[in-house]
Amino acid sequence: MYGMEFTEIRGFGVKRSETLKKNGIETVSDLLTVFPYSYVNLNDVAKSSVSTGKGVVTLFGKVAAQPTVKYIRKGLFLTTVVIVENDGTEFECGWFNRKYLKNSFPAEKEFYIIGKIEKYGKKLSVSNPITIPYTDNMPNIYPLYRPIKGIPSNVFLSAMDAVLKNVQVNSFIDRHLAEKFGLTELNEAFFNIHRPSDMIKLEQAKQSVAIENLSCNMALYSVVKQSGSKSHKYCGNIEILNEFLNDLSFELTYDQRKALSEIVSDMNSKKKMNRLLQGDVGCGKTVVALSAMLYAAISGFQSVLMSPTELLALQHFETAKRLFSKYNLKIVYLSSSLNAGEKRQALSDITCGNANIIIGTHSLIREDVIFKNLSLIITDEQQRFGVNQRGALENKALSADYLIMTATPIPRTLALTLYGDLDQSEIKTLPTRKAKTDTRFVPNGKIKDMLSYIKNKADAGEQTYMVCSRIDDDELVSVNNLYEYLQKTPLKKYVGILHGQLSDNDKEAVMSRFASGDIKVLVSTSIVEVGIDVPQATTIVIFNADRYGLSQLHQLRGRVGRGDKDSFCFLLSDKLKDSAKQRIEYFISCNDGFSLADYDFKQRGAGDFLGTRQHGDSVYTNINKDLIDKAREISSFLVQNDNFKNSISQSEQTGKILFVKSLTMN
Ligand code: ADP
Ligand code: MG
Repeated sequence: MYGMEFTEIRGFGVKRSETLKKNGIETVSDLLTVFPYSYVNLNDVAKSSVSTGKGVVTLFGKVAAQPTVKYIRKGLFLTTVVIVENDGTEFECGWFNRKYLKNSFPAEKEFYIIGKIEKYGKKLSVSNPITIPYTDNMPNIYPLYRPIKGIPSNVFLSAMDAVLKNVQVNSFIDRHLAEKFGLTELNEAFFNIHRPSDMIKLEQAKQSVAIENLSCNMALYSVVKQSGSKSHKYCGNIEILNEFLNDLSFELTYDQRKALSEIVSDMNSKKKMNRLLQGDVGCGKTVVALSAMLYAAISGFQSVLMSPTELLALQHFETAKRLFSKYNLKIVYLSSSLNAGEKRQALSDITCGNANIIIGTHSLIREDVIFKNLSLIITDEQQRFGVNQRGALENKALSADYLIMTATPIPRTLALTLYGDLDQSEIKTLPTRKAKTDTRFVPNGKIKDMLSYIKNKADAGEQTYMVCSRIDDDELVSVNNLYEYLQKTPLKKYVGILHGQLSDNDKEAVMSRFASGDIKVLVSTSIVEVGIDVPQATTIVIFNADRYGLSQLHQLRGRVGRGDKDSFCFLLSDKLKDSAKQRIEYFISCNDGFSLADYDFKQRGAGDFLGTRQHGDSVYTNINKDLIDKAREISSFLVQNDNFKNSISQSEQTGKILFVKSLTMN
């Protein structure tokens, strides 16, 4: 495979190439798969004056005065710029904490401004708008990409242009087959997604790329599944495993025991294990996974457990150290956040075989990790890995036993798609806990009562998560403004703060202070959604609850009710439109992850389940049953395609597979 290097693109030196790589964009073909999260139709620009605008509008005007940066309070700055429309109407745009924007608005320069317009007295203002500088050949439909820190958007756009122009991708799907299914040619499809000329072509292109990707994924699963026999044989003393289970502070549930015995018998069989372990949040998958790892370890093999987030990986690492303290096992943690020395140590422990149990993030698989004798790979919270990352994981598993775990119950139509005909274990029952979780909607008038409830609980030693969808925002309840607010309440002494922009060390420190009960109230983004386990936490408050998928809400709710105390999940939301209201009501009345997932799939498409919503792709959100059926049919051709199979085994070495065959330069 050959193609273009980022450094060949104008504006890209080594530094920006590195920045892309850090963001998981390692090759030019990766760049092609960074899809716009949305589009603006520039034809929709409010023709009349801004003052008649309502809700989100697209405006056009030029910079009237130098931008200013105002200090609001410690850690909070407001950058504003005044824009004037053709008819002389002025409005002000404002952003918090984005000082660098100060240099982005030269006098007289023309911009499209997209945002919600608000009137304060005579003053018109738009907060946090998206701005698009006017150029001579503006497209009608303008793509919006998630900003990447360190890469200005104009640089990103021209890089994309260069790649679209110079790089040719090849589809795995034969052209005649693609035509039969009405797929747009892949290069054209990529072009139409990044630079659409009309909405119909855009929709067709999205569908074509989604089908291409899905069918490759399905075919990959089938190939992995067929790749049959394995060379390792477990001969550990099963009694040690039984003792381990006896020593636990609880007894495994029937379903946990059944799942574990299915896993162990897969491990003992001559055939490679390819098993999906599915079970609702809180059902206790971790201990099942760790038991399987122990069995591998006492048989003399290495195993890895991979998590989608650093926080969760660290927690699993702590759990493993605690549960295995009695055994003479070396447990190693690996993620991209380790410093050079730590990483070298970890890698060498893994390579020489010192490490028995390896726990980390998915960077584990991206790194050139050489294992001494890896026999078992487990991925946790599989649904959080993006569709693109996923290929790499399955690939490494070609020669090892493979267990994937997920808490998001996947609607049946999708399950087959995502996991092919993998074997399934299901944990249907939750461990009997004394606690039950009650879900309530909290109207604005009751917020004070809720806060005093939380205060009383904190006084009594019980803990609360408060989840906001944003870190900083002046409209929505955000981590920063909530924290600020709580500082003025009696909860002050209890509060800690957690979000994705903290360094990994800080995240770990905050999380472990929360776990130990030192912090009683954790104000956080939905970063705590995935897997976190703090049994003393008995309340979770979710602000702007309408902004989440139901599965995601259910995951969040699953953070409480884990100990023996009754728990509450409080939902808040300013304005619930009718459909949102129905969804929330359904959520309140239903505690079954499977039904919730099904409801979401019908209402919102497959984005939540493919892990694409988190990644901001608009391309995969419209996946429906029809499209899945097409992809499945195509995948049955792919598995017979030698080109496809070869490319899988090639990518085993690079640890990476794309759903495009290869690249050539124009
Ligand atoms: P999930 O399936 O969501 O990953 P976890 O593995 O995090 O769930 O388990 C949730 C909590 O339940 C943990 O604190 C764990 O120790 C506890 N747990 C697991 N199995 C049992 C059981 N059989 N009885 C009681 N508690 C259990
Ligand atoms: Mg878990």
